[in-house]
Amino acid sequence: MARLEIDRVSKTFANGFKVLNHITIDVQSGEFLTLLGPSGCGKTTLLKAIAGFHSISTGRFLIDGTEVTDRPPEKRNTSMCFQSYALFPHLTVSENILFGPKQNRIPKEECDERLKTSLRQVDLEAHAHKLPSALSGGQQQRVALARAIAMRPGIILFDEPLSNLDAKLREQVRFELRALQAKHGFTAVYVTHDQAEALAMSDRIVVMNAGHVAQIGTPTDIYDRPATRFVADFIGAANIHRAEVIGRVAPTSWQLRTDVADFKVETDKDLTERSYYICWRPEDAVIVSGSGTGVNTLVASVEAQAFQGNVTDVLLRSEKSAQTYRIQTRKPLPVNSSVTISIAPEKVSVLEAAQ
Ligand code: ATP
Repeated sequence: MARLEIDRVSKTFANGFKVLNHITIDVQSGEFLTLLGPSGCGKTTLLKAIAGFHSISTGRFLIDGTEVTDRPPEKRNTSMCFQSYALFPHLTVSENILFGPKQNRIPKEECDERLKTSLRQVDLEAHAHKLPSALSGGQQQRVALARAIAMRPGIILFDEPLSNLDAKLREQVRFELRALQAKHGFTAVYVTHDQAEALAMSDRIVVMNAGHVAQIGTPTDIYDRPATRFVADFIGAANIHRAEVIGRVAPTSWQLRTDVADFKVETDKDLTERSYYICWRPEDAVIVSGSGTGVNTLVASVEAQAFQGNVTDVLLRSEKSAQTYRIQTRKPLPVNSSVTISIAPEKVSVLEAAQ
């Protein structure tokens, strides 16, 4: 395990495009940290820069307190596990796993021990002598993982390693990967654009947008308390409203006015601006009886719905304004019927100020 400090890292490509902008992240030893963001936001560039495959324009990387910014990849105590497995097709599973340790001139006895342990850890002992072409996609992915583990690095850098697997296998490998990390104790920096994967696997998530860090936090922080409109919108579904501040009603309680209703919200923030964006999650709406004129109560008609099995997604249109928003219910609601919903103040997040 190793600690990784990413300290004010920026990168501009030769064509002038600034892909990373002042990124600072302190990755704790043994942590599973995920870089999550839309395509093109700079995740892979940052991962490759940590590995030493890309140079950076400013800033530095420290591993266990030692600066490694100018070291070549093999001298950084990191190992990379790629999306496309990148296995050598003409080498067997064992030879693929041993490739790195042999290049690093690890003595034969230790190589044998590392091979045995990593094959066992990824449950591939029976396939040691096969060529990659004789394995399934999931098995090839596990060879790639075993190969990274056999290097015994302090940090493993994962570049969308599960994206070539089908949905079911992906879920299974997620659990295996976390279990393996707990057992082996490496620090993981994991790149994905799949929010479900990030929420399920990470100790902390770094949400990136256009080369910036938009928010760093635990999966529950990020989901329950998104900091910006971008994060609220990118992770899960969110109903976002522009809201004017009416006033403070208690030390951590404020009242705000939107086009669809007045909202009471619980927040530690000092709301010094005139207006903010606020958001709430579809599953936090509770259907109530009556016509509902109080705060945090919205009256709407059912516009459309989609049955999802365990829940039904419902699109509502506000009776006060033409705005639409989404809720989730256990029971389907008839289209065109009128419904009153309520959202608890602690379920409403205050995002950034509206300009
Ligand atoms: P994805 O999920 O699609 O892989 P990403 O967040 O990992 O996206 P990067 O691969 O880091 O994104 O690329 C970030 C941006 O940098 C993209 O817009 C890409 O086109 C651009 N880019 C990558 N390499 C270069 C380069 N050598 N010169 C100029 N721009 C580049």
